[in-house]
Amino acid sequence: MERILRNFFLFLSKNRFFTKLAKKYGLRFGAGKFVAGETVPDAVKTIKELNEKGMAVTIDHLGEFIDSESEAREAAEGCIKAIEAIADHQLDSQLSLKLTSMGLDISEDLVMENMRRILDVAEEKDVFVTIDMEDYERCEKTLEIFKKLREDYEHIGTVLQSYLYRTVDDIKELDKYHPNLRLVKGAYKESPKVAFPEKKDVDENLKKIIRIHLLNGNYTAVASHDDRMIEYTKSLVEEKDISKEQFEFQMLYGIRVERQEELVKEGYKMRVYVPYGNDWYGYFMRRLAERPANVAFVLKGVFGK
Ligand SMILES: Cc1cc2nc3c(=O)[nH]c(=O)nc-3n(C[C@H](O)[C@H](O)[C@H](O)COP(=O)(O)OP(=O)(O)OC[C@H]3O[C@@H](n4cnc5c(N)ncnc54)[C@H](O)[C@@H]3O)c2cc1C
Repeated sequence: MERILRNFFLFLSKNRFFTKLAKKYGLRFGAGKFVAGETVPDAVKTIKELNEKGMAVTIDHLGEFIDSESEAREAAEGCIKAIEAIADHQLDSQLSLKLTSMGLDISEDLVMENMRRILDVAEEKDVFVTIDMEDYERCEKTLEIFKKLREDYEHIGTVLQSYLYRTVDDIKELDKYHPNLRLVKGAYKESPKVAFPEKKDVDENLKKIIRIHLLNGNYTAVASHDDRMIEYTKSLVEEKDISKEQFEFQMLYGIRVERQEELVKEGYKMRVYVPYGNDWYGYFMRRLAERPANVAFVLKGVFGK
């Protein structure tokens, strides 16, 4: 049943009609539990609250299906505004973005132009930018673009997904860039031709890439709500005497909030991924796919008050 629901929500997450409808009607159905709001001031308010609790943040200006160059330029403009707000309010926050929202499906030149505009401001304002990883189809292109940008910019990182067979090779290949990487299990529906179908293999591979990246001396963001991944990282850094300056934990806004607070109390760096914007639908559907138990919460949002 869980697998059926997961596939159902992943299918819904790709529906362009609902995506457009959701943009028009604003945050609904309890999406506010996972999305900080629709505007930069909404995001600033949430970042301040989290910073006060000792947590760092990465904000994500939500945006997935982009049909025109002007929409992509608008999304880049949104990212620049967010970076400026982070700097103006002196917030402890980075920025995350998706290359599709920068025009990846339109042209590589457009993405590079948008990314360079964003990164010029990011370097000037000292705000770090992470390129989220999307589905397998876009993985190769995303890594190519990351490598090109990394040649010219310091304030840039990206994400690797442990469910992909290729990831161990990617992490070894990327080592020469000394990258700051976020390591995750992976949130999209992928074919068994390219990704481990069994959860236990995905989990083992996440441990493997955490180990490789940390032992290579690179900055590592362990982005998981899974206690086993957190405990694995804690014992590895203790065994290998790795400094707390070389890694951090990351979790999504609204998920396992108590655990986030505990990690801060234990003295670990904890970063919360805070999405905001009017293009919240795809993100929200992927969160429901991960944990169908959240559906009960959504139904309350739809039917109850
Ligand atoms: C900061 C961050 C950034 C991410 N960026 C990307 C990205 O760029 N690309 C991408 O593909 N994916 C990304 N993801 C999503 C990621 O790939 C996973 O889909 C997602 O994190 C779920 O996997 P998990 O490691 O948390 O563990 P899961 O295997 O989903 O869950 C493991 C355990 O965690 C606990 N848990 C999980 N959710 C909850 C909950 N809601 N409440 C209570 N307990 C819970 C449960 O004990 C569960 O058994 C990101 C995730 C995070 C945290």
